[in-house]
Amino acid sequence: MANHNIETPNNPSYRFAARALNSSHASHAAANDLVELSGGYAFPRCLPDISMEAGKAAAAHRTETMQYSDVLGLEELRDQIVDYVAADGIVCARDNVMVVNGAKHGLDLACRVFIEPGDAVIVTAPTYMTALSILRTHEADFWAIPQDEQGMQADVLEQRLAAAQSAGDKLPKLLFDVPDFHNPTGITTSLERRHELIRLARRFGFVIIEDDPYRRIRFEGEAVPPMKSLDESGVVIALGTASKILAPGMRIGWVIASASIIERMAAHKADGGTSPFNQRIFLELLAGNQVAHHIAAIIRQLRIHRDMMVDELRRHLPEASVHVPQGGYFLWVELPDDIDADMLAGLAIKKGVKTYSGRLSYPLEPSRNALRLCYSYEEPERIRQGVEALGEAFASLRTG
Ligand code: PMP
Repeated sequence: MANHNIETPNNPSYRFAARALNSSHASHAAANDLVELSGGYAFPRCLPDISMEAGKAAAAHRTETMQYSDVLGLEELRDQIVDYVAADGIVCARDNVMVVNGAKHGLDLACRVFIEPGDAVIVTAPTYMTALSILRTHEADFWAIPQDEQGMQADVLEQRLAAAQSAGDKLPKLLFDVPDFHNPTGITTSLERRHELIRLARRFGFVIIEDDPYRRIRFEGEAVPPMKSLDESGVVIALGTASKILAPGMRIGWVIASASIIERMAAHKADGGTSPFNQRIFLELLAGNQVAHHIAAIIRQLRIHRDMMVDELRRHLPEASVHVPQGGYFLWVELPDDIDADMLAGLAIKKGVKTYSGRLSYPLEPSRNALRLCYSYEEPERIRQGVEALGEAFASLRTG
């Protein structure tokens, strides 16, 4: 049968929007033929068995789960989320919570209601690469602010904001950051910096998007309060997700913000509502405390992964500098100046290991010599093999 979608190259009858002309999507599937150290996938043996809750959702809640639902999400789940975030010191009510299809969807919605083409968004350099692509689809411009061990350098940001203000330039509308176990660097923003960023948001009139998927995946050390819990004037939008505490395939996340932001985001949520079936399953697991048990199991497992990766990096890439995070999924590996991370990542693939060149995480000027490694997906023994292969790739680059 003839395929009705045959296209000629650059089919001239498609009048794509300018922003879509050169776009292509990146696959989110894990590379099963390689040692996968690039993407932030869940550890397969820690994926939950939700068959009981799914059965219950289908049988006892058929009308709710098989019907359209409110774009804001199921009221019971929104109440559960209010309780879940209260444990982190975030005080909010049901009206401040909207259920979305993952944190990325929350960011997309925030952009829809705040960003017009050419508006500036403040980000760390480097930052979460998928956030960069979402922001680019909204034609945002970037202000790239460096980080140190304490997070985004608020003093650098303040100087730039003050200079722009006195020059009468347009000021950024949003700041996007991942303050806990930052993707890709693993850095956790200090309490002082969190206060500073909130102060700047109030002074210069921007909104902070606090993307916090890794907060509960802490192996050791003291948690720092979320910015949302320090926010007394509604300048922070908090994004949460089930992806790292349960399963990314659930596609459940949430946005916490002042009611006027939530109301506008709901008006622009054009998905017909997040699947009520998945919402019901997640809410049963939250209410029954299985999520808490699941998080404890993930922490136990991933701590072993992190330790294995750090030890093997010290053994096989002793010249690299490694930031050891107290939680989350990622290690940021800074290579000697003469090593090009793209070349190293390319060679590593040939040796059977997939890594992620740090270059992709930069909004503007990329750094050429950093790699992001992810320890969440592979078994510890595979991590060991992968880092060993990476070390061989590094050695062969060195010997030319
Ligand atoms: N934000 C950051 C910083 C992430 O690293 C990830 C996972 N890669 C997410 C959000 C998860 O997004 P979602 O909830 O849409 O799965």
